[in-house]
Amino acid sequence: MKHFHIYQRIKNRPTYFRCIHPDCKHYLEKELVIGRRAECPYCHDDYVIQRRDLNNKTPHCSNCIAPGYENNTKTTKMKPKDKLRVTKLQTLFEDKVSKFLEGVER
Ligand SMILES: [Zn+2]
Ligand SMILES: [Zn+2]
Repeated sequence: MKHFHIYQRIKNRPTYFRCIHPDCKHYLEKELVIGRRAECPYCHDDYVIQRRDLNNKTPHCSNCIAPGYENNTKTTKMKPKDKLRVTKLQTLFEDKVSKFLEGVER
């Protein structure tokens, strides 16, 4: 299968990047990935990997904004898991406050 690789950092070997195509077993040392043509995992256009792109777990082209960056600008948007955690904390806190208030009233 001929394609531009979509690189992703290998979990157990952080200085290596592998291709995430299901049928591709390609992987490469970080320094050798720089300057290579690759496919963007988001828009599927090809682009040349720069050193700074490799700070991402999944490098992508400069037209695509990193999902992490997007989260930073939209502060109201929360991951469902985080939302649940906040709700849980709020419930815990309200419980304590109401118990405290009950104690004061008595
Ligand atoms: Zn590949
Ligand atoms: Zn892209």
